[in-house]
Amino acid sequence: MTHASGRHFLQIPGPTNVPDRVLRAIDRPTIDHRGPEFAALGHEVLREIRAIFKTEHPVLIYPSSGTGAWEAALVNTLSPGDRLLMCETGHFAVLWQQLATRLGLEAEVLPTDWRHGADPEAVETALAADSAHAIKAVCIVHNETSTGVESRIGEIRKAIDRAQHPALFMVDTISSLASIDYRMDEWGVDVTVAGSQKGLMLPPGLAFNGVSAKALAASRSASLPKNYWSWDDMLAANKSGFFPYTPATNLIYGLRESIRMLLEEGLDNVFARHDRHAAATRLAVGAWGLEVLCLNPDEHSSSLTAVLMPEGHDADRFRAVVLEAFDMSLGTGLGRLAGKVFRIGHLGSFNDLMLAGTLAGVEMGLARADVPHEPGGVQAALDYLADRSPESAD
Ligand SMILES: *Cc1c(COP(=O)(O)O)cnc(C)c1O
Repeated sequence: MTHASGRHFLQIPGPTNVPDRVLRAIDRPTIDHRGPEFAALGHEVLREIRAIFKTEHPVLIYPSSGTGAWEAALVNTLSPGDRLLMCETGHFAVLWQQLATRLGLEAEVLPTDWRHGADPEAVETALAADSAHAIKAVCIVHNETSTGVESRIGEIRKAIDRAQHPALFMVDTISSLASIDYRMDEWGVDVTVAGSQKGLMLPPGLAFNGVSAKALAASRSASLPKNYWSWDDMLAANKSGFFPYTPATNLIYGLRESIRMLLEEGLDNVFARHDRHAAATRLAVGAWGLEVLCLNPDEHSSSLTAVLMPEGHDADRFRAVVLEAFDMSLGTGLGRLAGKVFRIGHLGSFNDLMLAGTLAGVEMGLARADVPHEPGGVQAALDYLADRSPESAD
């Protein structure tokens, strides 16, 4: 290996680039997690994180990958054999469903073509047919990171209400929280699943459950086995700013800093920034003559764009060329999309020039890998960014 000069471009849709402010915040001595200094830190992050989830309810923080938060959501609220309504929007939805099945839950799965989000009408029909209320939870991935398709969570909430069904509503926001508008309380979400390494701009290693009063009530009679994930133990310790076992202390320093950064920028500005970069990226893809995987204009993800490779060209070979030539990592195709798409992450700590560099790397990579395309994608994106400066955006 020779030394690569300059910054690596980490443009996968998570983990994302960790800003220097967060790195500096983490770079401190680890303290006694049972001592008074930690209690102040614990109280602060447990209180402030709620604004990011747009909830008044408790948010629990685990030392874990996002997968742990999926598991925590299920084992705390459900009992063996319980039925779930899930929607197969893509690879991450499949993984959550597999996890549920391995826990002894029964998943009823609404399919999609992996190019559209969860269909609120299909959710309503499935719930209306369940007059015995056997379905205990509806589980939806807000931003399907394998496809770049967003599901309309507010509309799915309305569909559940129209069916007058009492199921819990669980939403995976691992690649949407702090990038795409998400409103836990307004949308009546009972369990929000999140992770540290995407919109929150932290390294991997923290996972979150936002928990409504209804979810907490369901947890009282849920009988799936749990220990590490137990909400009861976590909430009891959190009351005094502590955790039931050793927390990821240094990541929590980082979390305090990332929450401050998000609130300083303002969540609405954060969302507008992601929308703008996503729109510019789609213009670049169109100018290259390539196709965005997402087919519904109302469901384009603002945190990543999945791009279909032309027939006969392997997306992973293209990605390897970009990594080798330009030191940039793009996201791989997952599950049934392996080799067929590459994904451009444009979330987290990101700005116009980072997007320009990212798109330049893709355009130069397309030429270098002999992928048929038109030039001019970068220019199309730059023109859009220039026309729509953040100040002029509505
Ligand atoms: C990244 C991601 C996951 C998995 O998170 P891990 O930290 O890898 O366990 C789950 N769901 C979505 C939507 C994701 O983007």
